[in-house]
Amino acid sequence: MLYIGCHLSYSKGYEAMGKQALDIDANTFAFFTRNPRGGSAKAIDPADAAKLREILADNNFGRLVAHAPYTMNACAADLNIRRFAREAMADDLVRMEAVPNNYYNFHPGSHVKQGTEAGIQLISEQLNEVLKPEQTTTVLLETMAGKGSEMGRTFEEIQAIIERTELDGKLGVCLDTCHIWDGGYDIVNDLDGVLEKFDRIIGLDRLKAVHLNDSMNPLGAHKDRHAKIGEGFIGADALIRVINHPSLKNLPFILETPNDIDGYAKEIDFLRRNFG
Ligand code: FE
Ligand code: FE
Ligand code: ZN
Repeated sequence: MLYIGCHLSYSKGYEAMGKQALDIDANTFAFFTRNPRGGSAKAIDPADAAKLREILADNNFGRLVAHAPYTMNACAADLNIRRFAREAMADDLVRMEAVPNNYYNFHPGSHVKQGTEAGIQLISEQLNEVLKPEQTTTVLLETMAGKGSEMGRTFEEIQAIIERTELDGKLGVCLDTCHIWDGGYDIVNDLDGVLEKFDRIIGLDRLKAVHLNDSMNPLGAHKDRHAKIGEGFIGADALIRVINHPSLKNLPFILETPNDIDGYAKEIDFLRRNFG
C-alpha cells in the first residue's frame, strides 16, 4: 500500500484537511501544528478533531506526519529560544493527542557555534524533558541538509541524540530525500548502500516516515532547496525507486515540493502510477 500525501494547511481545521486529502487522493498528510514561523497555536475544537479521526479510519489512512515550527531550535545558544522550543514541543505533544497515534516531526536544530557535541546534548535534554510515557505520538528527528550549523546531517548525529534520550521508544526518524542528498548521501546511484548505512548506524526500525522531495542542488551541496518531483538533481527515476524500495514502501511519504494543491494532486497521481 502506498501512503502518499503532502503538506496541507491547518487554517480551516482538522476536518478540512481530511477532506482536502481525499480530494487529491492522498492517504496521509503533513500539517504544521502552529504557525511554522513560531507563535501560539489555535485552540483545538474536539468535534472537528473527531471528524478527522473518522475520515482517517474510514479511508484507511496511514499515519499523519505533523511538523513542528521551523523556528523551534532545541539547541540554540540563546536560552529564550531554547525555552520556546521546549514549551512549544510540550504543548504540541498535548495537542497531538486530539488525533492520537500519529507522528510529530521536528528539525533537530542549529548549534550556532556551540559545536555538535553541545548540540546533541541540548537536543536530548529537551527530549528528556518533554517526552512523556503516556503520549501516543512518536516524535521524529528529521535528517537535515547540513546548512550552516544544522544538526542531523549525519546518521551518526541522529543516533547520538537517540542514545541520550531516556524514552527512546517515543523516537523515530523522518528521512528527507532532498536533505540527505544535499547532506552527501547518494540515493541516486546507491540507495541500497545509503539504507544499509542507515540500518547499521540507526536501525531501519527507527525509520517511520519519508519527506519525498527532489533537490535543486547537486549531491553534498548542503543547501536545502526543494524541487518538484523530476525537476531536480535527484530525478523522478530515483524517487520512484525510493517509494518502491522494500525497506521503505509501507512508510508514509510526504511531498514538500514547491507546489499548489493541483501540483500536489498531479505528483500524487504520478507516484501512484509508478508504485508496485
Ligand atoms: Fe522539515
Ligand atoms: Fe522535510
Ligand atoms: Zn528542506
